[in-house]
Amino acid sequence: MEQAKVIDGRRPAAELRASIAARVEGLLAEGGKAPGLAAVLIGDDPASRVYAGQKEKACREVGFKFSFHDLPAEAGTGMLVDLLGGLSEDPDVHGILVEFPVPGHIDWATAVMAMSAEKDVDGVHPLNLGRLMMGLGTVVPCTPRGAMYLLKKYGIDPAGKRAVVLGRSNIVGKPMALLLQAADATVTVCHSRTTGLQSITREADIVVAAIGKPEYLKGPMVKPGCVVIDVGINQTERGLVGDVDHHGVSPVASWITPVPGGVGPMTTAMFLLNTLERYLALEGIQM
Ligand code: NDP
Repeated sequence: MEQAKVIDGRRPAAELRASIAARVEGLLAEGGKAPGLAAVLIGDDPASRVYAGQKEKACREVGFKFSFHDLPAEAGTGMLVDLLGGLSEDPDVHGILVEFPVPGHIDWATAVMAMSAEKDVDGVHPLNLGRLMMGLGTVVPCTPRGAMYLLKKYGIDPAGKRAVVLGRSNIVGKPMALLLQAADATVTVCHSRTTGLQSITREADIVVAAIGKPEYLKGPMVKPGCVVIDVGINQTERGLVGDVDHHGVSPVASWITPVPGGVGPMTTAMFLLNTLERYLALEGIQM
């Protein structure tokens, strides 16, 4: 049976990282300081620790300074506010990233306001999300930006297409829907209370799955020829899987992102790109 073409994220991510490394090398050679990314982790979520470690490695490889700020699980909103406020003032920090999930007892809406919107590398600050909603230039959250980058890279134009986004988180689903809409797709957002999901997904030319449910999207749920972007990262007994049943969907779809090796590497590359862009803006250097 014919299979969907694979939208590989590893190669474009590696190309992007190489171009960022070259730019940083040039900036350093001209006597500039290194872009600095500060990662904040609250508590001991093992997956978040792994993701922070991956970002540290990626930062060091392109010549960024990386600092890691570990808060205990019992840290309150005040501690996070103080930390984000301090990092926002630090001239050697150009990007700040808070690893999600943030523990439930933290008042995130309050804490995030303590972070400079100009240093917000994952586009989580209300000012940046608001600008995204208004279609103004802003810091675009890394995962949706990475997914859009892949669509463009593979010549898939969302204009005039029906797109369905599964998931409505502030970090993935909602910004993804806004970006697809800005790219002239007609967008439907589905969530855990959506009824008749299959009839909705079957109408889509592009489906983006970002729900955190292993292999949830099955072959019969997608329209033949549809483009499937799998954002999910789920650790299972069988290893890492996405939110899409890759083997069931691949014979139906025209394009599909793998997990691992699809959106994941692009997210990391976009953290680097967003940090570099924040650095250039803050240091007053042309893009
Ligand atoms: P959240 O848990 O914050 O949000 C999940 C969303 O999915 C919610 O809006 C929820 O609905 C919705 N949902 C849950 N079950 C269903 C269902 N059966 N049908 C339709 N919608 C459903 O997750 P994130 O957005 O942070 O992440 C989503 C996935 O993407 C996860 O697997 C995560 O690991 C992965 N991820 C991957 C990244 C990458 O780099 N590839 C980066 C970030 C995340 P409701 O709002 O009603 O609760």
